[in-house]
Amino acid sequence: MPPGPGAEVSELFPSMQQEIARLCASPEIRSAFTWFRAQEPQFAHWQLELARIAAPPFGESARGAWLAEKFKELGLDPVYTDEVGNVFGTRSGFGHGYVSLSAHLDTVFPAGTPLNVRQQGSRLYGPGVSDNGAGVTAILAIAGVLQAGGLHHALPLLFVGNVGEEGEGDLRGMRHIFSTPRWKDSIHYSLVLDGAGSDTIVAEALGSRRFEVIVRGPGGHSWSDFGTPNPIIVLSRTIDAFSLTPVPGSPKTTFNVGVIRGGTSVNSIRLPAGSRQNAVLTGTPKSRRVRTSIKNSTPKSFRPSIVVSKRSVGTKRATWGPPSFQSGIFATAARCNCADPSENQEPPRPPKSGLGRTLKPILFS
Ligand SMILES: [Zn+2]
Repeated sequence: MPPGPGAEVSELFPSMQQEIARLCASPEIRSAFTWFRAQEPQFAHWQLELARIAAPPFGESARGAWLAEKFKELGLDPVYTDEVGNVFGTRSGFGHGYVSLSAHLDTVFPAGTPLNVRQQGSRLYGPGVSDNGAGVTAILAIAGVLQAGGLHHALPLLFVGNVGEEGEGDLRGMRHIFSTPRWKDSIHYSLVLDGAGSDTIVAEALGSRRFEVIVRGPGGHSWSDFGTPNPIIVLSRTIDAFSLTPVPGSPKTTFNVGVIRGGTSVNSIRLPAGSRQNAVLTGTPKSRRVRTSIKNSTPKSFRPSIVVSKRSVGTKRATWGPPSFQSGIFATAARCNCADPSENQEPPRPPKSGLGRTLKPILFS
C-alpha cells in the first residue's frame, strides 16, 4: 500500500534525508550558519526599518521601493517592480526553471495605524514586525549569504516581495505573478516565508474561503421592538451554531469568525449586523461541511422576518495529495540538525511525523 499523507518523510524519501545530512555537514553550509549568526544585528536593523514603513492593504508601494533598493544592494540583478507592485530580484543560475523565494509586503493594519516599532533587548515590537517583517528579512538574509559567497546554486533564484496577501488582498500579487506569461510556467519551485515562527513548515497548498454574512431584521430598539427578531441576536446565534461545525483533524481544517460589527446603541432603531467568517480548508470532500455549515447556521425559527445574505469575499484553492519530492525535501531539511556541534545549541526536537506538521526549519533559524 502506498504511504499516506501522514507517513514519515524518511520512509518516503530515505535518500533525501541522507543527502540533506551530507549537505548540513559541509563546510560551506556551516560557514553560512556562522555568517547568519554574525549578521543578526543587521537583520534586526532591516526588520525594524521595514516595519516602520506603513504597508496597509493596497498600499505597499513605499515598502516595495525600500525592498527594491535592498535587492540591488545585495547584488540581485535585474531588480524591477511589476504593474501591481510586486518586487522582483534575480540571481542567475544554470538550469531551467526558477526557484522562487517570496515574502508578502503588506500588513493587516489599516492606513493610519500608529507604528511604534522598537527594539527592547533582543525582542522587536510593533505592528507587522513579525508578519511579515520577519519573512521579508529572511529573504534578504538568504540573498545576503549568497552574496557573501561560498554557496552555489544551479537553478536561478527569484526573490519576490509580493503585494496583497492579507485579507481582501486575497493573494492578488501572487495571482498576478502566476497568471503572467513571464512567470507562470517558469517558476518550478516556490518557498514562501511568512511570519517569525521557526516551528512550522506547511508543505501543502492551504486553501481558504471567506464569507461576509449580513443579517437584517425588524428588531433592535430596546422598548418598541422588544419581542421581534433582533439582527444582532440572530447573528450571535448564527455564529454560535457555526462554531459547532465538526471539522476533520486530518487534513487539518479550521475556521474562524474574525470581524463582527453592527448596531448603534441600546435604544437605536435597527441597523444590519454583519460578521466576517474565514474558513481555512484543505481540498477534501469533508471540508465542504464547513461551507455547508456557513449556509445552514442561521436559526430557522427566525425566518422569514430575518433576512440573511452571505457573500464570498475570497477564495484560495487548496491541494492535497501524496507528498511531493519538493515538499519532502523542505520537511526533511527541517529535521536535520545543521548546528555546529562546537557551539552550544539546543538539542534538536524529536521529529514529528507527517508533512505540513510542526517541524523545526533549521534553514532559517
Ligand atoms: Zn503573513
